[in-house]
Amino acid sequence: MITMTLDEFLAAIKSQNKDILDVTFQCPRCKTLQSANDLIAAGAGKNLDEVERYLAFSCIGRFDKSKGCDWTLGGVFQFHELEVIDSHGKVHPRFLPVMQCIK
Ligand SMILES: [Zn+2]
Repeated sequence: MITMTLDEFLAAIKSQNKDILDVTFQCPRCKTLQSANDLIAAGAGKNLDEVERYLAFSCIGRFDKSKGCDWTLGGVFQFHELEVIDSHGKVHPRFLPVMQCIK
């Protein structure tokens, strides 16, 4: 299990040096890489505001059956590789952002 503070999580996202819409995360179950743009293309929503709650949380396969899987971190079974700790000490499971170094 990888643990990051919210600041470290945001730094990992920034390190991709891309538009927030193109930042990629990896589903912990099927390993499919997915960005906000991918979720929009799959019909999860029309813009970042609408897909933000799924980004790094629900696999793209929930919206496009031809891709990924139906995993969501909101489900009963907890299976994830990353926990983001916010400034209140609350733990948020998230998909791993793809780091520059492992691309
Ligand atoms: Zn998946």
